[in-house]
Amino acid sequence: MDRNMVDVVIVGAGPVGLSLAADLRRYGVSVRIVDRKAGPEVYSKAANFWPRTQEVAEAIGYGAQVQAAAVAIKATTVYAFGSLLGTIPARSYHEFGTPFPQVLAVSQGQVEHIVRDYLEAQGQAVEYGVKFVSLQQDNDGLDVVLERNGQREQLRCRYLVGCDGSKSSVREAMGIPLHLQPLQGRGFQQIDARLRWSRPATNDQMWFFLYDDGFAGIVPLPNNLYRFFVVRDLAKVPDRDPTVEEMTALVQQISGDTQAAFFDPVWFSHGILRYGVAGTFRRGRVLLAGDAGHATVPIGGQGMNSGIQDAFNLGWKLAAVVHGTSPDWLLDTYAQERRKVRSDLAADQKSNFVRLSAPGPLLKALTRNVGAWVLQRGGSVELGRNRDESQLDIAYPDSLLNDDQVRKGNVRVGQRAPDAVVTRASDLSATTVFHDLYAGQWALLGFDAGQDQEHLALYQALDLCSDVAHIRPRLVLARPRVPQRYKDQVLFDVDRLAHTRYGVSQPMIYLVRPDGYIGYRGLAANIGALRAYIARVFPASNRADVLPSLSAAHTI
Ligand SMILES: Cc1cc2nc3c(=O)[nH]c(=O)nc-3n(C[C@H](O)[C@H](O)[C@H](O)COP(=O)(O)OP(=O)(O)OC[C@H]3O[C@@H](n4cnc5c(N)ncnc54)[C@H](O)[C@@H]3O)c2cc1C
Repeated sequence: MDRNMVDVVIVGAGPVGLSLAADLRRYGVSVRIVDRKAGPEVYSKAANFWPRTQEVAEAIGYGAQVQAAAVAIKATTVYAFGSLLGTIPARSYHEFGTPFPQVLAVSQGQVEHIVRDYLEAQGQAVEYGVKFVSLQQDNDGLDVVLERNGQREQLRCRYLVGCDGSKSSVREAMGIPLHLQPLQGRGFQQIDARLRWSRPATNDQMWFFLYDDGFAGIVPLPNNLYRFFVVRDLAKVPDRDPTVEEMTALVQQISGDTQAAFFDPVWFSHGILRYGVAGTFRRGRVLLAGDAGHATVPIGGQGMNSGIQDAFNLGWKLAAVVHGTSPDWLLDTYAQERRKVRSDLAADQKSNFVRLSAPGPLLKALTRNVGAWVLQRGGSVELGRNRDESQLDIAYPDSLLNDDQVRKGNVRVGQRAPDAVVTRASDLSATTVFHDLYAGQWALLGFDAGQDQEHLALYQALDLCSDVAHIRPRLVLARPRVPQRYKDQVLFDVDRLAHTRYGVSQPMIYLVRPDGYIGYRGLAANIGALRAYIARVFPASNRADVLPSLSAAHTI
């Protein structure tokens, strides 16, 4: 690779930049990823991996390493205003059709080490000690200036992605505003340390405490460490990191356990709770992802997780535009989709955290009287959240990429396509729908709904998509009859697990994007609508231009 001419420069090797680099490498896009720090993050910062992030990590290729390093959360105990509401088993996210139904505790430092090692094993260097200085864009690309040890280097690239965190110099260079809004005078204090207390410290449980001043939590980290955070009135939060003694006094007061004590601390943090979204995520050939585009409240476990979703939404789109198989407007859909998700997240965090961190008399009375009942029925510990925190329910209902010819039913265009177990027609072995969805291509899923007479239309759709590069065509048949020549492309669904998951009751075609979201849905017989969608999204595509093939190890 000519070091001075690459497809994409990524500024920032936090979890978002690293994940984007790993995803782009899958598609054969040449990348330089630089970071001004000396190496991967040593502190915990983010401490959790939600189920959707696990799906993404698995698809990109570093999921198994995260699973091996992490601890699965097994239970949550909730106290409210001095009373025990109860202990509930950790929620299982099976209802979303995911192979990863648990929440994992894993530190951001571990994630950065894992992805850095993964990239290096693929031959992709992560250039630490290199600072982004400036950029200049024209019609064909960008001139970028970097600096290492005081030496400047100029290089040319086609796109640049600012993954350079909340104080993003890329965002500043582009003059894109991000106004931070304080969360109604709320601040937080935090310690990551070992914990000795009277409760069983099994390192796979969480404790939440609603108390008069706000709320607090104890969450496990790998290596038998715990994170204790307290959210309360900013006036009570000194503008410095807390001490071990202060956090020990707080945990004793809030948990009522006079034996509780922290020792061997590894990280402290404090600050104002703030949120905000950048004015745009795209300006010409420059894109923003992760904290560069969005400031998230550091409690609630969303910042790193949603940043990795940014990377996964952007990776395949950048690859398709760089390879010339999809038009440039595909990148607008990144900015449109992810900015909307992040604006919604900001609004959601605002309403939930204000309610929790400054509980009024109504919330207190409600929690005291019905909190235990809500909890036992699987209610959120947040008692009033608006969306699912696992990020599995994130959807892009207004995307420019959407074409819904049906407009009813429960799995619609713009939503995440769910998983289900199916059987390969070729050798009758068990597999999953995800295995075909996350192979680095679009996927056609044609469902027969058990109706033989529509098989002809489904085979027509299969043939049509077989002629288009970047689409992996598959039929999901409840009636297990298939001509020999189509056997490799057919999945049997005799018990209709996949049909039920997708809510299919008549023969239907889905086109699923490489990031697992549904782009097109129509009746099997409506081949004209499918053809029109393909012409819009892949105007330049044919079997002759094939992307570098992805190894099967990269599929879920
Ligand atoms: C106390 C705390 C607790 C948190 N807990 C959670 C949690 O439990 N779950 C969760 O999901 N999120 C959590 N977060 C949020 C999470 O840490 C961030 O959302 C995450 O770091 C964002 O990743 P990123 O890659 O976008 O940015 P960053 O991690 O900030 O990485 C940006 C990188 O860009 C580099 N950089 C900056 N400027 C330049 C430049 N000019 N040139 C070259 N490189 C540059 C930086 O050195 C840095 O490495 C927490 C945050 C805090 C502070």
